[in-house]
Amino acid sequence: MPEDCIFCRIVAGEIPSTIVYEDDHCVAFRDINPQAPTHVLVIPREHIVGMAELEGAAPELLGHLLMVAAEVARDGGLAESGYRTVINWGPDAGMEVAHLHIHVLGGRRMTWPPG
Ligand code: AMP
Ligand code: ZN
Repeated sequence: MPEDCIFCRIVAGEIPSTIVYEDDHCVAFRDINPQAPTHVLVIPREHIVGMAELEGAAPELLGHLLMVAAEVARDGGLAESGYRTVINWGPDAGMEVAHLHIHVLGGRRMTWPPG
């Protein structure tokens, strides 16, 4: 585990977080700086850097993360109202943490295109 990866440290329980779902493959927790009434991050337990380094990742794991994102949204009562899933990569997208994560945002009307 990269010592300086904040999300690996959350997985390891070294940094506190509000976990809403976890299984053998992934963890979902509330974003510390929520951009919507519901803002959850779904991450693999394994340190996958992000969109630029998916080659070594199991396709099943990547699919699983998306299914968990949908489950988290459903459990959060967002299935009817809708929600947005986002993966940022690189400076133009404003990526801050280089450990793959899916944002699940909902509970307010969002604009398109994103800012
Ligand atoms: P990104 O810009 O896609 O890399 O998103 C990183 C997200 O991680 C941001 O929305 C941050 O608010 C969030 N974040 C950073 N540190 C923590 C933390 N300790 N607990 C929960 N969320 C965090
Ligand atoms: Zn990591």
